[in-house]
Amino acid sequence: MDVRITFLGAAGTVTGSTYLVSYGNTRILVDCGIFQGERSWRERNWLPPHFDPASIQAVLLTHAHVDHIGMLPRYYKLGLRAPVLASPGTADLAKLLLLDSGRLQEEESAFRAKHKKSRHHPPLPLYTEEEAKAALELLTPGPINTRIPVVDGVTAQWSLMGHILGACAITLWIGGKKIVFSGDVGRYGEPILVDPQPVELGDLLLIESTYGNRLHNGSALQDEMADIINRTYRRRGVVIIPSFAVGRTQTLLYYLRELKAAERIPDIPVIIDSPMASDATAIYRHHSNEYDERSKELLRKGAHPFTVSKMYFTREKEESMKLNSIEEPMILISASGMLSGGRILHHLKHRVSDKRNTVMFVGYQPPGSRGDWLKRGNKTMRLLGDEVPVNAEVCEVSGLSAHADRAELLRWCRSCSGTPGRVAVVHGEPDSARQFSALLGEELGWNSFVPEYLDTITL
Ligand SMILES: [Zn+2]
Repeated sequence: MDVRITFLGAAGTVTGSTYLVSYGNTRILVDCGIFQGERSWRERNWLPPHFDPASIQAVLLTHAHVDHIGMLPRYYKLGLRAPVLASPGTADLAKLLLLDSGRLQEEESAFRAKHKKSRHHPPLPLYTEEEAKAALELLTPGPINTRIPVVDGVTAQWSLMGHILGACAITLWIGGKKIVFSGDVGRYGEPILVDPQPVELGDLLLIESTYGNRLHNGSALQDEMADIINRTYRRRGVVIIPSFAVGRTQTLLYYLRELKAAERIPDIPVIIDSPMASDATAIYRHHSNEYDERSKELLRKGAHPFTVSKMYFTREKEESMKLNSIEEPMILISASGMLSGGRILHHLKHRVSDKRNTVMFVGYQPPGSRGDWLKRGNKTMRLLGDEVPVNAEVCEVSGLSAHADRAELLRWCRSCSGTPGRVAVVHGEPDSARQFSALLGEELGWNSFVPEYLDTITL
């Protein structure tokens, strides 16, 4: 009997990570991500799945980003009732992110209903917040670095990868074969979380390749941040940072604490105006066992890696609106990071016309997005129904990424023991995946290939 692996996502793209592993009657899903981005990919979320969700005996999650877990409520609706195994950090973040995903799906279908932009009448959400809540009942947190039983004859182990809190590689032992799923690989020497941990390789390695053909700009990130904050302060302006709630916000707080401690920036208020970022920060605080040595040392000294002086979390909508009346210099962190929705929109509408202020991007803005529009230097912007002049400074701090670059991916591969029988290079745009696959052959002599969407291989 063969072990079969089918690539149901993250093949030819970076989203929709889903792998079906089968052996005899055993069926296991590793990740169940939602497709994002282009419409042709997003439409796949609505297709009948390529397996019967009721036949799945276990789901294993690498980490809590929705492109790795976002289909869980949909599969639940279609009959999935298996345990969903994840690290404790992933389980906590998954609750936050899936409920939010359900809310967004409902908002989007309501928007489509209003603007008659749907083929369905009435437009339906992929799933609701209530359905997400029901699916979360399946979540079963398990220990890290311990080989645990999954179903009869199948075991698995989670190893930390430093990509976001709880993010792990998964080693799966099934049908006499050993398969390693890298999940998303984090970066080396980043604050807060441990570096990607080495694992023992086996018959097959699935490795991500988001930055498989690129190197991150290793520039002095904190210098850039300090320059931007100081010149905005001199203008008596506000620094507005559109940020991702999970991971990015906590890293920003870490750097702001360091800059303040070194007196490199003034001790101005730091407002986190995003309930999700506040909740994610609380979850990050709770899982300090995943911190690196620097952050653990701070805890031992009674400090906290992301407690900044004059830091305030605003939760209620009224508090968020009240921020508009503050005229003093401050740093305002809000979501969403890509300006696709959320409170950041009213902050921009209120402040982007004032040339004293700065919009500081800290993450990727996809082509065609609002963030991209601003970065291109457009002089007006449509925000919450109005055309608003753009006079604020718009800039970007580069190098903040949760993904290993080409050199770091290679470094992780080298740190692992053993030579994999085969390597499937996944989770990358086609060029990135192909080039990284070639690099693995040249540098390590590994037998690698780039699978296509819906390919099946046997071991
Ligand atoms: Zn991720």
